[in-house]
Amino acid sequence: MTIKKLMAALFATAGLAALPASAANIFIVNFDGPGEGFNDPTPAAPVGGNPGTTLGEQRLNAFAYAASIWGANLQSTVDIYVGARMDPLACDANSAVLGSAGPTFVNRDFPAAPGQGTVVAGHWYHIALANKLAGEDFVPDFVHISARFNSELGKPNCLAGSPFYLGIDGNAGTLIDLSTVLLHEFGHGLGFSTTTNGTTGAYNGGFPSIYDKFAYDNDANKAWNQMTDAQRAASALNSRRLVWTGLNTWVSALFTLDFGTPQLQITKPFSIAGLYQVGEAAFGAQLDDKRVEQKVGQVVDQTNGTGLACTALSTANAKAVKGKVALVDRGVCGFAVKAKVVQDAGAKAMIVVENVDVTPPADMAGVDATVKIPSVRVTLATGNAIKGALAGGDDVKVQLEMNWLQLRGADRLGRTMLFNPKPFQPGSSISHWDTSAERNLLMEPFINADLTHSVKPPKDLTLPMLKDIGW
Ligand SMILES: [Zn+2]
Repeated sequence: MTIKKLMAALFATAGLAALPASAANIFIVNFDGPGEGFNDPTPAAPVGGNPGTTLGEQRLNAFAYAASIWGANLQSTVDIYVGARMDPLACDANSAVLGSAGPTFVNRDFPAAPGQGTVVAGHWYHIALANKLAGEDFVPDFVHISARFNSELGKPNCLAGSPFYLGIDGNAGTLIDLSTVLLHEFGHGLGFSTTTNGTTGAYNGGFPSIYDKFAYDNDANKAWNQMTDAQRAASALNSRRLVWTGLNTWVSALFTLDFGTPQLQITKPFSIAGLYQVGEAAFGAQLDDKRVEQKVGQVVDQTNGTGLACTALSTANAKAVKGKVALVDRGVCGFAVKAKVVQDAGAKAMIVVENVDVTPPADMAGVDATVKIPSVRVTLATGNAIKGALAGGDDVKVQLEMNWLQLRGADRLGRTMLFNPKPFQPGSSISHWDTSAERNLLMEPFINADLTHSVKPPKDLTLPMLKDIGW
């Protein structure tokens, strides 16, 4: 047994907010100083089921509410303590760190208590889970999860006008629902994060995390606990090819995620035939309704030699795309502008080629009610493959369609995808679900407005994921 301390988290002289008895007791330990954070005396009117009468009280009530939801869903004979504080965190006018949380310690190679499950040898466990499996508290003088949340949210220069909603009824409207953010962050602290370095691929102290056992790369055909450091670092950038193989999540995804994944299939030439990832357009026909099977015509002779399609096409270009799928380059003008330009030239659909080497292909914003054709965005690599085939004199034939057999946010075997964009996003990559998931999931890297406070199917996959790792 080896306990590893991740960060200092001594008990301060702090009050405990006790919760009703449940399947697991989770206590919030108030680490804030006098007059700030949870102790902020600013008067507040009770809101959305939160009876607190000061800002500090309302914050603490929201924390206790989120802790009670997790407590009701988990089983542990060992109490869980969350050291929490509200501090000024990074933010500006347009974005903000809402909060962060993680385990204070990890532990490995400890004995499991009878009936509490199995401990996989040689893998790190977040301390709250290690305690549960062992039936004892390995760090009785310390908190098990450390959580910090942004006290400045909603103030000038910190997403002004979008403070945390402190009600616990889910009616956040345009505000940011603190309870949802708390459920998300506590999820990380309970086990939804790897302890492995996604940039270098290096294990923490030479051992994988239990998370790594279930993070499986569909191209390497290995899980993260079976790879070299270099393979893991590559897998961390292998967008939408890294999936979660846990059985509970696999079964739950079937009745949590929606069916239907947009895709580009190249059927000709053989050299580049296959399935390619696409981003969807907010404008024009949706692939749900409209499938297109056609040859590709490239827009080539626009300003500076690229196929930007920002102004009416030349006669030669219009001829090249008429009746076909127009291949255009990203840049200079909006996506909907390009779509209108190629539609006016007679194109049946549009493929926009990304102009930087980022993955996966992002969705495309834009509004133009007169655009009727469907559009998708592909990566620079995909675009270059198509351009290369065209330059070599090949006909390129594609199918743009919705694959109704594939869950949205899962691979073809129904395994939910992890978030691994290129470039790597420290703090977000690997330890979240991919953003393509629909319905939206609690453990995506962004808090979507349509999330509920449920952590389990048919609303969410966080609880089955935690069960996969031993909860
Ligand atoms: Zn997160």
